[in-house]
Amino acid sequence: MKSLSHIVGSTPASGIRRFFDLVAELDDVISLGVGEPDYVTPWRIREAAIYSLEKGRTTYTSNYGLLELREAIVAKHIERYGTGWNPRTEVLVTVGVSEALDTAFRAILNPGDEVLIPEPCYVSYAPCVAFAGGVPVPVPTRASADFATHPEAIAERITEKTKAILLSYPTNPTGAVMSREGLQKVVDMAVEHDLYILSDEIYDRLCYDTEHVSVPALAGAKDRTILLNGFSKAYAMTGWRIGYACAPAPIIEMMMKIHQYTMLCAPITAQIAALEALKNAEQDAAEMVADYDRRRRLFVRGLNELGLECRMPGGAFYAFPSIEKTGLSSEEFAERLLKEERVLVVPGDVFGEGGIGHVRCCYATATNKLTEALERMGRFLSKL
Ligand code: PLP
Repeated sequence: MKSLSHIVGSTPASGIRRFFDLVAELDDVISLGVGEPDYVTPWRIREAAIYSLEKGRTTYTSNYGLLELREAIVAKHIERYGTGWNPRTEVLVTVGVSEALDTAFRAILNPGDEVLIPEPCYVSYAPCVAFAGGVPVPVPTRASADFATHPEAIAERITEKTKAILLSYPTNPTGAVMSREGLQKVVDMAVEHDLYILSDEIYDRLCYDTEHVSVPALAGAKDRTILLNGFSKAYAMTGWRIGYACAPAPIIEMMMKIHQYTMLCAPITAQIAALEALKNAEQDAAEMVADYDRRRRLFVRGLNELGLECRMPGGAFYAFPSIEKTGLSSEEFAERLLKEERVLVVPGDVFGEGGIGHVRCCYATATNKLTEALERMGRFLSKL
């Protein structure tokens, strides 16, 4: 048989998957593994979707997505951050932020183009760049600097081939947020070197101590930024597969070329649900965020009391404690904790080199489970 794709073949499989396979063999596991709310989608959103099905709304939509949804997306961004786009030409509704990411990279990259990606980061960025023919270039960030992206670290890695910078605040897996000043410096650098910015702001609603800073709202950013966002996290809608991209019309037009052939459109039921989320579920989202905040404080305090040093994450729903004191690698720690005490965490190094010596714990889990997980982790540590 002829060989399969070299690009796909040389991309490592996600390091998380092995752990999910292990979980399937065990009972009574407390999972802090998947980055997913433990809430079901708020009832009013499900009801709107059910009602739309009753009315027989089961067709394709415009490739761009329902105009009413695109208008609501723009209205929401204007209300929150003061930035707007033309809903007819500058917004594309996608199958989750995942499709928006994939399409955005394919729309801007030519073979060999480099994308600067602050690490540790969400596991899909580097593979998506590679699948689009580009070259991911990691930009390390440090726990001691709250995992903020330093403009100097970016400057050092800019070459003739650099095409874009990926930003994602609040960050998966560290929960880091960046200050307005810090982000503005990165934007200024993108302007100076004429780079695109992809800003994945899927956790924008999950910012606890400070106001979220939306990158396209910064001076000089909007003309070169592709904003990616979606409904999975803030509205507990992971399974609906719905997200969007906002960007200058020529970029959206390029993304659309791919999307119209590969996806046609996002599922109509999910689009109707997303519209309901934007119009009527703000209170539901706010209540879930307040609950994650309580869990964040409880869990991070608990980790530090166990001696697992963990800074208070400013956003998202992940704690990223250092496990260096245990003398175990991230992988060993995660594997033994799972086998010996049935708690699933993700080894930090799957998110990049900066994650070595850390593990990621998702605290979007019921408080009693978090408390039980801390007890089990304490027992595990006392036996080391
Ligand atoms: N971006 C980040 C930073 C994420 O953490 C995730 C999921 O965990 C995604 C994108 C994927 O989002 P979606 O469910 O909208 O495809």
